[in-house]
Amino acid sequence: MPPDSDYYEILGVARDASQDEIKRAFRRLARLHHPDVNPDDPDSEARFKDVAGAYEVLRDPDRRRQYDYFGHAGPVAPSTGDFWDEFGSFGGLFDAFFGARRGATRVGPRRGSDLRYDLEITLEEVLAGVEKAIAAQRVQRCEDCDATGSRSQGGSRSCPNCAGSGQTQHATTTPFGRLSTVTTCRVCEGTGEVVTDPCETCGGTGRRLTQTEVPVEIPSGIEDGASIRISSAGEAGERGAPAGDLYVFVHVKPHEIFRRRGRDLFCEVPIPFTTAALGGTIQIPTLKGPEEVAVPAGAQTGASFVVRGKGLPDVRTGVRGSQHVTVRVVTPTHLTPRQRELLTEYAGEGGDEIEADKGWFARFRDALRGDE
Ligand code: ZN
Ligand code: ZN
Repeated sequence: MPPDSDYYEILGVARDASQDEIKRAFRRLARLHHPDVNPDDPDSEARFKDVAGAYEVLRDPDRRRQYDYFGHAGPVAPSTGDFWDEFGSFGGLFDAFFGARRGATRVGPRRGSDLRYDLEITLEEVLAGVEKAIAAQRVQRCEDCDATGSRSQGGSRSCPNCAGSGQTQHATTTPFGRLSTVTTCRVCEGTGEVVTDPCETCGGTGRRLTQTEVPVEIPSGIEDGASIRISSAGEAGERGAPAGDLYVFVHVKPHEIFRRRGRDLFCEVPIPFTTAALGGTIQIPTLKGPEEVAVPAGAQTGASFVVRGKGLPDVRTGVRGSQHVTVRVVTPTHLTPRQRELLTEYAGEGGDEIEADKGWFARFRDALRGDE
């Protein structure tokens, strides 16, 4: 933007615009051009600064009047300073208008980081629910100094670098006047205080690394990929600031026998061809061990039946889903002479006829007969 660009043009308002209209225009443009919203556009910061610079003048009735008379050539009225003080920085300005943003300048001790832990559990554990102890190495508040970082009470003083504000200001002179940027003080890391009598255990940070075990309750019926948040079980914050949270991501191991879909379980069960023909009881696997179920005579491979209440529980209601069992009829591969004799006799009784009058079996049989 050329240095003589008109502030009213920058904000896109008429010269007699009301303060309200100016504020609305600024909010709209600041949102549009904010560098955080345009991470791929290197010019957005310059545009944002132009908009902020124009607004800084036009929002103040005295400075606006002066600008109206003299334009950019006029004497630069001293900024009241409250504009940037009020918002701290571009980040603060953005926060004030649009709510918190990522990576905003923070003042004061930092909250602890969130931690992620990946936990693998079995399908049996999904059914029963389980409590696990998670071994986590994390930064915790130092008990020896009560997280103050200081060995004695009152062992800290106001930071000399930032005079206790936690921030340092850097002024830049631009054609539009003075712009100041505010950054977190490097000496006190934004706390506004420096420790003069550091705690030996934690070296004045108020935090230390410890090995901890965090108990986590996995509710029965939990889905694969679900996460559980354990409030304040993450890293401790700096010097007594709140701890982060611990997120436990649950992964369910693949099962040898069962596949899962929601609350329902699916499995395949081999049955002897004699049971398939005559009917009888078979053993099926369940997550709580084998159970006996009745199979009707004439069961075919691929036939499936449903055992209600043997699936997984709903994580909220606890109501269990179903287990779906698909039958696979197994043909014997090793026959004793006696078995062979009996089966030959059975075949002689018409047992080698396939009892199917419809479907592809019938067509298959008809096709064979047609060849005769
Ligand atoms: Zn300490
Ligand atoms: Zn400082």
